Amino acid sequence: MGQALRNLRGLGKISESNISEALAEVRTALLSADVHFRVAREFCERVKAQCLGQNVIASVSPGQMAIKIIHDELEKLLGENSTQFSPKRPLKVMLVGLHGSGKTTSAAKLARLLKNRGNYKPALVACDVYRPAAIDQLETLATTTGAKFYCDRAEKNVPAIGERGLQFATENFCDLIIFDTAGRLQIDENLIEEIKRLRQRVSPDEVLLVADAALGQEAVSVAKHFHEAVNLTGIILTKLDGDARGGAALSMKAITGVPIKFMGTGEKVEDFDIFHADRMAQRILGMGDVVSLVEKAQETIDQKEAERIAEKMKKADFDFEDFLTQIHQMKKMGPLGSVMKMMPGMSGITVGEKEENKLKRTEAIIQSMTKKERARPEILNGSRRARIAKGSGTKVSDVNALLKQFSQMRQMMKMLKGGKMKNMMRALGGRMPGFGGNGGGRFGF
Ligand code: GDP
Ligand code: MG
Repeated sequence: MGQALRNLRGLGKISESNISEALAEVRTALLSADVHFRVAREFCERVKAQCLGQNVIASVSPGQMAIKIIHDELEKLLGENSTQFSPKRPLKVMLVGLHGSGKTTSAAKLARLLKNRGNYKPALVACDVYRPAAIDQLETLATTTGAKFYCDRAEKNVPAIGERGLQFATENFCDLIIFDTAGRLQIDENLIEEIKRLRQRVSPDEVLLVADAALGQEAVSVAKHFHEAVNLTGIILTKLDGDARGGAALSMKAITGVPIKFMGTGEKVEDFDIFHADRMAQRILGMGDVVSLVEKAQETIDQKEAERIAEKMKKADFDFEDFLTQIHQMKKMGPLGSVMKMMPGMSGITVGEKEENKLKRTEAIIQSMTKKERARPEILNGSRRARIAKGSGTKVSDVNALLKQFSQMRQMMKMLKGGKMKNMMRALGGRMPGFGGNGGGRFGF
């Protein structure tokens, strides 16, 4: 975003050609936040049309205006209908989603929020019959939040449980009934059939997809699939306390039209709120002080070295040796914390020892590789990985995670092929693997 916005700031007027150039960079920023390519393209087309048709207000520059349009458009797209939640009483809410997305946790969080803000009396109904632990988890959460709880550990028929849960809620004068369902790692047709039948039986007023903000490019197919099956009324975006830029949110919203209604921001029951489109727009687009980061980076990074790396990136043969150089250059820019503060979307996030340690770990892993391995990571078989883990004092899973991130980074470089130097510099600084919170293949920033 940095260069794009800087270029725009200096503009006298918005013309067809300079807006295209700037938007190409906006598009790259969106893609690197995991926004689906189609969504990114359509978004940019819309913004372009708006910018060109805009009457420029005398007191602001066309560049300032364009920045505002881009931000507002993103906020609008994300926020449409997001605050409309069914006002019904009793209110029946069904939660669906992949395994581990945060359904059970969100059931309790939503109960708590609506109890506090809407004065509802909640009941939680356990419809995940596949793991006894899931029922216990919901029961514990119900106790913590002061919600009534219904389950039937002997019953496997989910619609029947749902119906009896409703009865239970009525008998206990509850006016908010939340159904927690089972998920799988991938979309599973049997499970989809089950939630379809549950939906028919209990006719919920809200059917919410619970989705991890780090879902990435698969977010679109997940949302589409669930929407086709059970006709979603909203999305709960979880794990926004993590490091994902959250492009998934924009993709899901843009493609299914289903609004995002709530967001999860931590593991505790109080870490939950109504969705704020403005915050999300800033997170995706990045409104941190990118310009000063680029300037600071330029002062420090040896221009020739950067060009050499950029050349390699263009050919997508960037290797671990280059990566190590890059880490050292980043270190020159000062403590990670102060660098992070200038990254888009990162200004509110504090960097502690944990992240610094991750960087050290990444460095240790690369240092344990031989020259040949650094140049050709594809030769890293199981025994080499085990040796590297041992040598660097890390686990094989850490090595695997780094390799996965590295290959994703290479893929991204292919995407950037032909792009400009600034793009690549930003990509390097902004998407350096090794700081990821979950170590599961996401980029750190
Ligand atoms: P389910 O399989 O969809 O029911 O997912 P769970 O509710 O069991 O959540 C899976 C894991 O994600 C648990 O460890 C939760 O504590 C965690 N989790 C859920 N929501 C959030 C969130 O907003 N932030 C963070 N950091 N963790 C979350
Ligand atoms: Mg669960």
